[in-house]
Amino acid sequence: MNLILMGLPGAGKGTQADKIVDKYGVPHISTGDMFRAAIKNGTELGLKAKAFMDEGNLVPDEVTVGIVKERLSKDDCKDGFLLDGFPRTVAQASALEEILNELDRQLDHVLYIKVPKEDLFKRLTGRWICPDCGTAYHEIFNPPQVQGKCDKDGSDLIQRDDDKPETVEKRLEVNWEQTQPLVDFYSEKGYLRNINGQKDIQDVFEDIDQLLKGSHQ
Ligand SMILES: [Zn+2]
Repeated sequence: MNLILMGLPGAGKGTQADKIVDKYGVPHISTGDMFRAAIKNGTELGLKAKAFMDEGNLVPDEVTVGIVKERLSKDDCKDGFLLDGFPRTVAQASALEEILNELDRQLDHVLYIKVPKEDLFKRLTGRWICPDCGTAYHEIFNPPQVQGKCDKDGSDLIQRDDDKPETVEKRLEVNWEQTQPLVDFYSEKGYLRNINGQKDIQDVFEDIDQLLKGSHQ
C-alpha cells in the first residue's frame, strides 16, 4: 500500500499515522521526523530547515525532495509506505510522481484529514509545557489543575514559539495556501480520499481502516 497522509497542522495526522503503521505495517516516512533528527544533530540541512521553521515558514523543496527519494528507495519500502508531511507543494507532488515512476510504483490513496481552520487554531495554540520537567498540557484537552502552573512541580508553564498565536496563524495560513492546490492535484488524479477529522481519534481511524481494508490484499 503506497499512501500519502495529508492534513493541516493539528489535524491529527501523527496519531493516525501511528495507527496505520501499527495495523498495516508500512514504514512511516515523516519529513518532520527527518528534519527534527537533522536539527538535533546540527547538520547543514537541519540548520537550514530550522531557520525556516522558526519563522513559521515551510522548508523549501530542494532541501526535502532528495531525502525522500533516498528513503523510498530503501528495502523496507518495497511493500508500501506511508508518507506524512510530504509532498507539501504541487512541485513536490510532481517530483514524487517521477520518483515513483523510476521505482515502478504507484500511489494507492491520498488520505486527507479535514478539520476546519478555527478548530485547528484552538488545538494548536492551547499547548503549554513545563520548562523544568517537560510535562505537556493543553488548555482544552489536558489542562493543568492551576492555570499556568505545572501539576508536578508548580513551575510556570511556557509556550513554545511554535505554539504562539501569531506563529500558529501564519503557519496555518501558509499551509492552507499550499495544501489547497495539492488537494486539487490529487483530486484530479483520482487519489484523494477525504477523511472527516472532527470525530474522535478512534472513529477517524475506523474510517481510514474501512477504506484501506477495501483495497488491501
Ligand atoms: Zn513540571
